[in-house]
Amino acid sequence: MIYRITFLGTGTSTGVPLIGCQCRVCLSKDNKDKRLRSSVLVERITDNGERIKILIDAGPDFRQQMLTHGITGLDAILLTHEHRDHIAGLDDVRAFNFLSNKPVPIYAEQRVQDSLRKQFDYAFTDYKSPGLPEMTLYTIENKPFYIRDIPIIPVRAMHGPLPILGFRIGPIGYLTDAKTIDDNELEKFKGVKVFVVSTVQRTVHRTHFSLSQAIGVAQRVGAAESYLTHLSHCLEPHRELLALLPQGIEPAYDGLVREVVFKDIQ
Ligand SMILES: [Zn+2]
Ligand SMILES: [Zn+2]
Ligand SMILES: [Zn+2]
Repeated sequence: MIYRITFLGTGTSTGVPLIGCQCRVCLSKDNKDKRLRSSVLVERITDNGERIKILIDAGPDFRQQMLTHGITGLDAILLTHEHRDHIAGLDDVRAFNFLSNKPVPIYAEQRVQDSLRKQFDYAFTDYKSPGLPEMTLYTIENKPFYIRDIPIIPVRAMHGPLPILGFRIGPIGYLTDAKTIDDNELEKFKGVKVFVVSTVQRTVHRTHFSLSQAIGVAQRVGAAESYLTHLSHCLEPHRELLALLPQGIEPAYDGLVREVVFKDIQ
């Protein structure tokens, strides 16, 4: 079977370009410098063509990302944490509700769910007027779980003071918005073929890995291919950043697709 990761967005919370900014990254003509808010689609495609689609995070650009990539349904949405740039698009799951006549399954920690109930209070009232987003919330913790028969391994990291989750899905590891991670948690990513880690800038940040910290984490995981995401306009334009990163580590860009042939271990 094949695991495929599609980068739907690779930008920090403001996206790139930043509204109104005249810096050379924001004015760049290179499409790889146009970054929607960070989100990836992970698909498992079996030999008989069965395709399971798992979205990680649904930020403010969710609608555009679904349209751009022609996505007509999702088997699950996994949430890393409750910041707006990772959940603001959830109202638009309505389209999938209309198409499938079913709620969209959302997998999140209890604290994240509590925040969803506040931020989307209208969707969780007892009286459901027609047309509201319908989501079924599944509670996850830092313990492996399944989506259908796909094992999902959560990985705990700290986003400054906020505990968040990264995910290992088959041969793919995804860790965004982390600032620190314990060795025993990072260990869970060992052996992935494709590793994704976030950074926003070169200098030390209060809640995110700096560029050198993200590179260090990627090197410790040691995947054949590592990609940086959640990038801001404070970093170099894509082409320059690519040229100065170590072998095997590249900046991701919106629309990048990677595929890995892999056999699930049950
Ligand atoms: Zn973020
Ligand atoms: Zn800028
Ligand atoms: Zn965040």
